[in-house]
Amino acid sequence: DELISQIAAGEVVERPASVVRELVDNALDAGATEVTLKLLAGGVRSIVVEDNGAGIPADELPLALRRHATSKIASLPDLEAVSTMGFRGEALAAIASIADVSLLSRTADGPHAFRLDARSGELAPAARAVGTSVEVRELFFSTPARRKFLKTDATELAHCIEAVRRHALARPDVAFAVWHEGKLVEQWRKGTAEQRIKDVLGEDFLAASRAVEAHIGPLSVRGRAGVPDAARARADQQYCYVNGRYVRDKLLAHGVRSAYEDVLHGSRQPTYVLFVEISPERVDVNVHPTKIEVRFRDSREVHQAVRHAVDDALALPRA
Ligand code: ADP
Ligand code: MG
Repeated sequence: DELISQIAAGEVVERPASVVRELVDNALDAGATEVTLKLLAGGVRSIVVEDNGAGIPADELPLALRRHATSKIASLPDLEAVSTMGFRGEALAAIASIADVSLLSRTADGPHAFRLDARSGELAPAARAVGTSVEVRELFFSTPARRKFLKTDATELAHCIEAVRRHALARPDVAFAVWHEGKLVEQWRKGTAEQRIKDVLGEDFLAASRAVEAHIGPLSVRGRAGVPDAARARADQQYCYVNGRYVRDKLLAHGVRSAYEDVLHGSRQPTYVLFVEISPERVDVNVHPTKIEVRFRDSREVHQAVRHAVDDALALPRA
């Protein structure tokens, strides 16, 4: 089982940012409204994610680390209607097979917190407010070949921050903070969707973008699309979400690009934050272990909807 977990880890965990993505997923699944990340050496030495979510009961702490033991999918039909971000039930097990993991958690009705050390299996009383802290130390300590592929701490930190940024754009109702080597490097307070876009992508992006808001058939597309401006063009400001989940999808990206070509007859890099909502049975989200890809039942419908939504936003003189 350890080997299977390590193989799974190879698919799920490429670098510290992969761990960050999974741990923040879990914090949000637990209903957290405050998520704090503390990193050492770009996350390679240590990643701690603290949340104020529901917590894990002491007797379930060991299960949280077991493969598939606590998958949020209770039955097959749930696969069709996955609403939580994490659903494979193996992220923590995979991470624990390639790093030193400890869980510190307290539920509202627990007498106090408990700390579980994954390596030793030791479960001990501890102190903490309601919520969970997951600590991941020495990532890839047992797989030095893998560790060699990591970039500089600064690069790994940038990837970690980007992972949090992707969550943060979709969840303005949750406060996020990122600390690195004891210094606060990012902080996004709770606010409106617009405020969050401004905080995360900058005032420039907000000022030079238009609201996207369209309901087309079974789909809705909302967010903001940047008005192309050579001086502001940034290829890295392209964020697409399907039912709240960050995705990197060629079809969606192409739909947006088509809109820019329709309106501008140019080939400048679009910048955008788009939230596509579609009924869950029209989209498959479980096609890749990193959960970053989706498959639509009717891809033409989606492509057209995105294209038209962005067309409208760019063509109309509205803010
Ligand atoms: P999955 O999220 O797919 O269920 P994970 O391996 O990511 O699988 O997590 C295993 C289980 O551990 C979760 O189903 C959840 O019950 C529990 N868990 C993990 N992180 C947290 C957290 N931050 N707060 C509450 N429960 C958590
Ligand atoms: Mg998970």
